[in-house]
Amino acid sequence: MTLSSATELAEDHPVHAPWRHALTRLSALMPGYEPRQGQVVMMEAIAQANHIGEDLVVEAGTGTGKTLAYLLPLVAAGKRMVLSTATRQLQEQLVRHDLPTALEATGSMQQVALLKGRRNYLCIERSNAAILKERQLVGLISPELQAIQRALMHTQSGDINQVQGVEDSHPIWSEVTSTADNCLGQDCPSYQQCFVVQARREAQKAEIVVINHHLLFADYAIKEKSDGQGLLPSVDAIVIDEAHALEDVATRFFGRSVSSSRFDALRREVSDVVSSLSVPDEQVDPLFSLIRQASQASKAMFAVAEQWSAQPRLDAAKLSQLLSPSQRLIKACLDLSAALSSVASDDVDAVRVLSASIRQFAADTEAVLALPSDEQDLSVRWVEVRARSVAMVARPLEVGPILERTLLAEPASRLFTSATVAIGDDFRSFIDSLGLAESTQTLRVPGTFDYPSQALLYVPSHLPEPFAPGREHAVATEIVRLIQASEGGAFALFSSYRAMQSSYYRAVDNLAGYQVFMQGQESRERLIERFRAEQPAVLFATMGFWQGVDLPGQVLRMVILDKVPFPPPDDPLFAARSARLKAAGQSSFARLSIPSATISLRQGFGRLIRSKEDRGVVSILDPRVRRRSYGRALLNALPPARKTEHFDDVTAFYSDLCD
Ligand code: SF4
Repeated sequence: MTLSSATELAEDHPVHAPWRHALTRLSALMPGYEPRQGQVVMMEAIAQANHIGEDLVVEAGTGTGKTLAYLLPLVAAGKRMVLSTATRQLQEQLVRHDLPTALEATGSMQQVALLKGRRNYLCIERSNAAILKERQLVGLISPELQAIQRALMHTQSGDINQVQGVEDSHPIWSEVTSTADNCLGQDCPSYQQCFVVQARREAQKAEIVVINHHLLFADYAIKEKSDGQGLLPSVDAIVIDEAHALEDVATRFFGRSVSSSRFDALRREVSDVVSSLSVPDEQVDPLFSLIRQASQASKAMFAVAEQWSAQPRLDAAKLSQLLSPSQRLIKACLDLSAALSSVASDDVDAVRVLSASIRQFAADTEAVLALPSDEQDLSVRWVEVRARSVAMVARPLEVGPILERTLLAEPASRLFTSATVAIGDDFRSFIDSLGLAESTQTLRVPGTFDYPSQALLYVPSHLPEPFAPGREHAVATEIVRLIQASEGGAFALFSSYRAMQSSYYRAVDNLAGYQVFMQGQESRERLIERFRAEQPAVLFATMGFWQGVDLPGQVLRMVILDKVPFPPPDDPLFAARSARLKAAGQSSFARLSIPSATISLRQGFGRLIRSKEDRGVVSILDPRVRRRSYGRALLNALPPARKTEHFDDVTAFYSDLCD
């Protein structure tokens, strides 16, 4: 454990007294709890950094007790703070367990609020409208709307978690929750009872607010538009937990996209509303004419864009070619929006919301295609062709400059923490990715698990390399015998959908006796629930699937990766970032590919070994790890599990578990 710090406070400095006292009480509150050395070092570092007002990055290995390690010093010091996480699971854990424990241990009375994005709360207006519409059309309402109606009668918070029996992926959610575009704001008849408004008021009053990274950035976006009035109160400390996900969330949040399917959905909604207006034909006909004009302009613009779907990015020349069609579409949308605003209708709210949505579509189109004002273009734009849609996407090439004027400009100390942010002792990749100061303090606290006895890393060298003939058959055969060795309880994770499907269809007939699931068959939540409940189970999925999956115990005892999870070279953002590094004379493989693959692999271990009791095997079916020069560095950056290339060691590992 090495703390890189310019200033070190003495161990007996008064700043350490409150949390040390709380730590003593913690042992009384939590039977069997013993402070771990790494946890105490982390508390010291956080208390010190916060006292001095410095930023700190901490990698805390699994099992360290990371959340209490930051909560205790900050709560004991009476700090007002925002806690931001990447996943709902961690938010729930903080609010239900760790914060109440920290408050009790410190004797603090600080008020806590959990604030989620608006899509997590029922919208009273939209829910009532959906219920009314269905009743008028069908005469009775669906079981899902009945569940929502029941929840509306009893819920205090309006959190959609309290609606029983409606799947997360059910389309009804978009009808009964709101977006910034379709919320009526202060003109809403239900504004005073609105759950979103209530939750935001609670957050403003609270001393500790738990949010997610997306909302953290939404707060800055709102502040930029409204003279500093945001969603969150001003605080002394900002804790970014699961900080490994921050760059990705910022990249998506500060990017923009427009798609033909989004326009078509808007067009259908506008046509429906205009058709139902009880106004004279001479008012309706011009509206239909404007809808047709916008529709033609949309088709023309997306047709031009579609021809470049195979290109890695839209360069200045292509953006110039899109200029005229996009300007025609923007003008048509603005004309339609203005015409809708001036319609005198009974359903004034629906018309106004649609008018705003069309204006937003025009603004997003302009933002996606805006030509850089100087030589320094800090965005990458590309075209994606999806199932029945063409999308144009813009993402910032670097998030550092954006964070510099938002998160890093806050007059608060910041803690960035995660189980996976460093490569060995090196934090450079993480620090550079967020544009943090080079002098930022860092601390690495190793995990507490006994990896050499709890985990085995199996990397066979006999398989063909990726893209070599016979590879797909060999990988599927290897997966079957690994699943048989672990007797299920396995995730088989792939670098692409194509590879996942190929292995699934080759392997599934040889996996009789196991519940075999594949990503896409049901919602993600439902698949994980069934995987947990219907053992022995196997799940074929893509790499991203393990993010946010928590399956402690022996439910998950084997993780198989088809390849080293390097970022796909045809990913436009990765390609643009690589090109930028190459232009600066740096190796994108060393600076981007290796760190990204290492972090992904370490997260895989983190999924498999969640407690001291867990045992399991990680298998990487990629012989390049054995043969290429980067393989050793990759293996060295992983938790110190026993390593083998012999299948017999895998069977012996599971035999020992049964003994
Ligand atoms: S204020 Fe917005 S979110 Fe709240 S009930 Fe009204 S429309 Fe729904």
